[in-house]
Amino acid sequence: MKFGGTSVGTAQRMQDVTRLVTSSSEPVLLVLSAMSGTTNALLEISDYLYKRNANGALDKILKLELKYKDTIDALYSTDLYKQKALQLLKERFDILREIANSRKLFSSIEEKIIVAQGERTSTALVWNYMQEQGYDAVLLDALSFMKTDKNAEPDMSFIKDNALRVLDEAGTHKVYITQGFICMNAYGEIDNLQRGGSDYTASILGAALSASVIEIWTDIDGMHNNDPRFVEGTKPVKSLYFSEAAELAYFGAKILHPTCVLPAKQAGIPVRLLNTMQPDAPGTTISTDFIRHQIKAVAAKDGITAIKIKSSHMLLAHGFLAKVFDIFAHYKTSIDMITTSEVGVSVTIDNDRHLDEITDDLRKFGTVSIDRDLVIICVVGDMATENVGFQAKVVNAVSNIPVRMISYGGSNYNVSLLVAKDDKVNALKALSANLF
Ligand code: ASP
Ligand code: MG
Repeated sequence: MKFGGTSVGTAQRMQDVTRLVTSSSEPVLLVLSAMSGTTNALLEISDYLYKRNANGALDKILKLELKYKDTIDALYSTDLYKQKALQLLKERFDILREIANSRKLFSSIEEKIIVAQGERTSTALVWNYMQEQGYDAVLLDALSFMKTDKNAEPDMSFIKDNALRVLDEAGTHKVYITQGFICMNAYGEIDNLQRGGSDYTASILGAALSASVIEIWTDIDGMHNNDPRFVEGTKPVKSLYFSEAAELAYFGAKILHPTCVLPAKQAGIPVRLLNTMQPDAPGTTISTDFIRHQIKAVAAKDGITAIKIKSSHMLLAHGFLAKVFDIFAHYKTSIDMITTSEVGVSVTIDNDRHLDEITDDLRKFGTVSIDRDLVIICVVGDMATENVGFQAKVVNAVSNIPVRMISYGGSNYNVSLLVAKDDKVNALKALSANLF
């Protein structure tokens, strides 16, 4: 069970989490994020230190510490456990102050140590609260089993061996608590799995330990069939196939970290997205069960740039696309959507850092035009060829909206449309109205 920053964001929420976790009938590995706002605060502290402003950093550290002291006051009912919590807090904040006061040059190594204190604090406080309430819980140090390799990818075999070993050494308990997000890297330094990485931790550990289920608890009742910020009356999707979830997560559904799905998928372990505020709601289950003949959900991804390369050289030529793709590969820019005709190709990118260089290089092969401020609208579901008319439903829904590109048939699970930023909300609404 993984709970994110807002789910442990106040003393009250930590108590709610404890109630939820301890009422599970199976033993639980509990993965926690830092309290909401903490990771940002720790990065800000690091920023002061990069700028050699130790006083600025110490000021921020004090502010953060006071916030935690308030939380501790509200969380525990006994003096004994308040004192224990203050001691646990002190251990974390001593590290921050020691780095802030050090005269050594501040580097990303120190920054990662600082950022790691958020998860270490939240887990220590919740563990201490469970102890106070008399629950059988142990705290496991994620740094003793979460590890990345030289490519900064999780080292699955190391993680599996060591997580099993650490669990075994801890003995039998109802709840095992550990930190999301943080890990060691291949060089023996403290590191992390990037922002929002706690979901990833949960998925990796669920897979490594062959959990019965991986539960990701947030404050939304699952993945919705459209973006509730723009469309009224959206509904949670009860079940998604792993590939459908991956498309949705990648194309903008904010609820799940895109990489998170992968380890669970490989291990075939269902992932449930559940709501801390409504624990009995069914939420969304992502699994190997594929429901046929259904369009499931719509998501949108902003900030897309389209690049069109028109070339008479492409006519009847081979190797043209390879040359085009080579240019994108050279600038480490990944392509999201592609459409081709005999005389041209259009691609989209979401990272335009090297757009000028890419455009420059592409001009060797044809006439290049760029459209900015576009949005990919992704419709996910059973889009197999045998479902006659499914892609037509999608296209018909946007019959009044200018569409720049359409991609169908890339996988069996999606149709993507590229529209202007200003047409996004209308497109989302029209799709909901026509598909659901
Ligand atoms: N605390 C980390 C972050 O804010 C990791 C997470 O919340 O998943 O990015
Ligand atoms: Mg998060």
